[in-house]
Amino acid sequence: MRQPLVAGNWKMNGTRASVAELLDGLKAGIGGVTTAEVAVCAPFVYIPDTQARLDGSPIKWGGQDVSVHASGAYTGEIAGPMLRDFGCHFVIIGHSERRAYHGESDALVAEKFAAAREAGLVPILCVGETLDEREQGVTEQVVARQLDAVIEHCGVATLGEGVIAYEPVWAIGTGKTASPEQAQDVHAFIRGRVAEKDQAVADGIRILYGGSMNPKNASELLAQADIDGGLIGGASLKAPDFLAVCTAANA
Ligand code: PEP
Repeated sequence: MRQPLVAGNWKMNGTRASVAELLDGLKAGIGGVTTAEVAVCAPFVYIPDTQARLDGSPIKWGGQDVSVHASGAYTGEIAGPMLRDFGCHFVIIGHSERRAYHGESDALVAEKFAAAREAGLVPILCVGETLDEREQGVTEQVVARQLDAVIEHCGVATLGEGVIAYEPVWAIGTGKTASPEQAQDVHAFIRGRVAEKDQAVADGIRILYGGSMNPKNASELLAQADIDGGLIGGASLKAPDFLAVCTAANA
């Protein structure tokens, strides 16, 4: 039985004041959410405030990226041990915005996955196809390539210590959600791909859906056999919306 996970990705949003309000709203409202694991991935500078405000609540927190290096002369980078120092549990790896705007290759993403595990963080590995790729019918090839890069670099057992998020790029921040069937098909493909290497890892690994998930569509998506939770962007910025998705994940 896989415990559902709902993780918020705040991206580069918020102010110190709005983050405080959001965190207080989440902390106050999370009481009823019992079965799903819940986390928020904050911009680096807001992680200390996130830790201070969420301490003592069941909500975990994390970062949105991590360096491949543990320390050293890498100006502007944030290392895994630094995230752990501020109580981070999760870190998002290979988000499509980092792949697209920061040129992150499959190989670099795999190195980041390894660095996160070495630091004791739970990586949330994002995979997913662009609209062009879906229209060309190569969704499975793209997702397999992104997944295989991590399996080849880290090994399937290490992959199993993380979480996978299937995020069709065309559904992120666009209001266009993959249909439950479209999402389930890719999730089943991902689980099957992992099963080719290790059935136990495939059975245990959580595969989240991400892409315009919100309180209206969450239940239907989360009811799919291979959808084990959500990675939530826009809807994670309002406490009532995020909590409603968390509640849907409990059902
Ligand atoms: C994301 O950025 O990971 C995401 C899923 O965003 P949104 O929910 O806004 O589509």
